[in-house]
Amino acid sequence: MQLWRYGSRMKKKLNPDELNLITLAAQYSDEGKALSLLESLRWPNGVMCPHCNHNEVYSLKPKRTSKSPGRMGLYCCAACRKQFTVKVGTVFEGSHIPVSKWLMAMFIICSSKKSVSAHQLHRMLDITYKTAWFMAHRIRFAMDDDTQPMLSGTVEVDETFIGGKGDVRTMSLRKTPVVALISRKGKMKARVVSNVTQKNIGQCLNECVSKEAVVNTDDLPTYDKPLKDYKRHDVVNHSAKEYARRNPDGSIAHVNSAESFFSLLKRGVYGAWHHISREHLPKYANEFAFRWNHNKVTDGERMAKFAGLIEGKRLTYRQAV
Ligand SMILES: [Zn+2]
Repeated sequence: MQLWRYGSRMKKKLNPDELNLITLAAQYSDEGKALSLLESLRWPNGVMCPHCNHNEVYSLKPKRTSKSPGRMGLYCCAACRKQFTVKVGTVFEGSHIPVSKWLMAMFIICSSKKSVSAHQLHRMLDITYKTAWFMAHRIRFAMDDDTQPMLSGTVEVDETFIGGKGDVRTMSLRKTPVVALISRKGKMKARVVSNVTQKNIGQCLNECVSKEAVVNTDDLPTYDKPLKDYKRHDVVNHSAKEYARRNPDGSIAHVNSAESFFSLLKRGVYGAWHHISREHLPKYANEFAFRWNHNKVTDGERMAKFAGLIEGKRLTYRQAV
């Protein structure tokens, strides 16, 4: 093995706007190039050791005389001497799928407004259905953005019920509630709860919404008690067919953004996925929340934002199923 200092090769700065399926297919189908693209997305300021965060690292390449091809994209840390590739310490760790296919799957999921099914990924990327299913789940898992600050300003909170097939009389029992918490400033969070109770709603609010927020809900009485400590609680009386109301201060009380989110999510559930199980619903909700939170940027920039979330997340197949 020969040591090569990282940085001695000049790297071209990547413009995320240039990322689309054409550039991925034309320029990054080669595994070495795909690895360096993922490196520049994960480490925009240069390669960093995932074990100790040191930034002095060496590229490890086999000697010219060596008969074995060596591992592509292998680095060694100057501080802790441990070896790593760009996949170590991310949601891609341990995966044998070519990085070029991961990049395509990332792009497709980040840019499909109503999502895609594992069947579609399986056909588009020429991989087995099982592989496609697991890739999509790993990507959704990584889309959970826990770095986001508490929602503030005017925040809409509403719930809907997803899934549940069969007998109409028992359907509501099998449906799973999803709570959407959406700031009118643009950011949102989604939570899946076992049932709509004061305790569960209170927990969602505590985790996601600043106490300084003005919270808008419909007239479901479950919201009243958990919202007592908030700056203000504006209720639109859906039971009396009131869907928006102008407040004395000129602001408008409604939960229309939450309803838009639910209609998108349902189009994903019924259009792309057909049916989803209760235990996977939080990951699907993550996926839609992620795209909602980055809807003002280009598809390439959204993919670059996603790459910022792959760090420190692992999902094994056993955990996923
Ligand atoms: Zn290190």
